[in-house]
Amino acid sequence: MTLRARLALGLVIIATVLVVPLLVARASLHRLHDQVRSLREGEFQASLVLGRLRDALGDVRARELALGVTPTDTVHAQLVAALRAATALADSLDHFRLDSAGHRIRADLATMTPAVEREYAAMRSDSSALADRISQSIIAPALQDADRQLSPAELLLRSRTRDRVLDAESAVMEAQRSTLTALTLALLLAGLIAFLLTRSISRPVVALEAGMRAVADGELGHTLDIRTGRNDEFGRLAASFQDMSRQLAELDKLKAEFVSIASHELKTPINVILGYLTLMEEGVYGPLTEKQKPVTKTIEAQARTIARLASQLLDVSRFEAGGGRIDARPVNLSTMLDELEHTFHVLAVQREIDFRVTRRPGLPGEVVWDAERINEVTGNLLSNAFKFTPPGGTIELIAAPAGDRVSITVRDTGAGIPPDQLPHVFEKFYQADNQRSASAKGTGLGLAIAREIVTAHKGDITCESEPGKGTTFSILLPVSVENRRKTGASHHASTSGQSA
Ligand code: ATP
Ligand code: MG
Repeated sequence: MTLRARLALGLVIIATVLVVPLLVARASLHRLHDQVRSLREGEFQASLVLGRLRDALGDVRARELALGVTPTDTVHAQLVAALRAATALADSLDHFRLDSAGHRIRADLATMTPAVEREYAAMRSDSSALADRISQSIIAPALQDADRQLSPAELLLRSRTRDRVLDAESAVMEAQRSTLTALTLALLLAGLIAFLLTRSISRPVVALEAGMRAVADGELGHTLDIRTGRNDEFGRLAASFQDMSRQLAELDKLKAEFVSIASHELKTPINVILGYLTLMEEGVYGPLTEKQKPVTKTIEAQARTIARLASQLLDVSRFEAGGGRIDARPVNLSTMLDELEHTFHVLAVQREIDFRVTRRPGLPGEVVWDAERINEVTGNLLSNAFKFTPPGGTIELIAAPAGDRVSITVRDTGAGIPPDQLPHVFEKFYQADNQRSASAKGTGLGLAIAREIVTAHKGDITCESEPGKGTTFSILLPVSVENRRKTGASHHASTSGQSA
């Protein structure tokens, strides 16, 4: 699924999930509304009818008393109307299911209706004794009985109302509870979906960022932590990234191989040239004229520069192609330092530089290094120091124990390196802005090679410098290094400006 589709689907699911608590709340409110309505249409209506019936029975009683005093047609008609109204109300009581109240009151009213007619007839024929008897023996007991029916009906209605109100209260509580539960679940689910959605995007982004950084750091064959089979933009991006880094790695290898072959091929003809030059200088092909001698010297110097460059290029490319072998063997550290001191002693005298090699106590007698390569490193560092230190300056090489490692520091009082350029001195072909202070021309490869060799020995190389005051290069090497082939391009070198 594409990223856009996944995002849209995720948002739709979150929106749907959040609508669920709304629906639950709506259903609960609906139930509550039903209960309130049935309360209004049932119990409240019934209590209204019961009140009106009580009034109507009172009306019947009053009209009947009035008829006993003034037996006119009007009073009679009013009594009949009151009876009818009461009967109608008693009829409507059936609708509210109040046991037999309606039925009994209706029966009482039905008993009263003919009795009223007979009482009125007796009054009209002046037989008030008969009328009184009818009133007391039929009408008054019937009215009393009807009145008595009202109280139990009212009691029943009250208890029913209380039950209904309690039901409504529990419905409110239930609505609250279910809405809250639904809301909590919906929020949890929405949160989970949002989390999964974010993770599905942020993880490949982080992996891509790590991949970019790895490639920028020179780890060209870096494998991304993303499935290339993913059927979305990230899958395609990962596949392209993988292709790109594979091609870069191949190109890098090709480049290193090319430089390696080219520089190797250069060596043979240069050696032939140097060989013939030596023979010419030795007079094997006849004596050289005074004019020819400086020319052959210049040709020889230039040929040696090319030979050095070819050999440096070969060194760098060999390491980069992964073929830079470390041939570590036990060597006597003291002898190694003696040879170094001896080699640079002559140069120091020539350049009028105070050069000394200091051995701190506790140095191991023997170390397991590729002596030839480490000599190349110390040679490069010392060459640089001599190159940038003017006559009268000091150069010191200090060898000291450092735990299970040995530190070799080359310190000079030369030109120094500007702080902003210090981080770059280990880069290939990089030369700082201090070339005017250099006593010889270089190519900017010495430190790059030194770093490769030190890294292959699992060591560290660092540099501190202050322009005008001097420079210090330090290497830290394990006492014993395993023979191995260098792989990858991890660089341990670091630089820092020296505080004044
Ligand atoms: P190469 O060593 O290939 O002949 P190079 O000496 O110029 O040439 P590196 O040894 O790699 O190259 O040094 C890189 C740059 O670092 C130098 O050109 C110089 O600017 C600076 N540098 C190195 N060592 C010193 C030092 N001791 N004092 C001052 N600058 C230095
Ligand atoms: Mg150099």
